[in-house]
Amino acid sequence: MSKLDNEHMENEPRVVIEINPPPSNNCCECCGRHVREIKPFDRDKANTSGVGALLVKNFRFMAPSKVKGVVELTPDVLNENGDVDDDKLIAKYGKVKVDQFYLAEQLAWSTTPSWECRDCFTLPDDEYFKRKLGKTGE
Ligand SMILES: [Zn+2]
Repeated sequence: MSKLDNEHMENEPRVVIEINPPPSNNCCECCGRHVREIKPFDRDKANTSGVGALLVKNFRFMAPSKVKGVVELTPDVLNENGDVDDDKLIAKYGKVKVDQFYLAEQLAWSTTPSWECRDCFTLPDDEYFKRKLGKTGE
């Protein structure tokens, strides 16, 4: 007779699949500090059930929402409905820059897991990207 209970399960081989495992280098994926250098999460840090953990999985957009300097969506590259006109955009900036722009847009709307320390976990996205990309405040 087949049965599924705890007693039965103990004798069964188990397959553990870990989705989005912690980084193998044990470093925060935002600031890059090693877990030896960081303090564990405590109850002061909101939005986490990871009290005591050194790194907690967060979800972040893959690129900043406003990528500057690639193209500007000025009225001369829009059609009569106010939508981007790709032909006008390519004529003004060239296909390479327009492709970069669309890739950046896709990344800005895609999320990825990010293992972060207590100091990075609560950062708003713009601060997160500044720290991750090593930029100082402007
Ligand atoms: Zn960090």
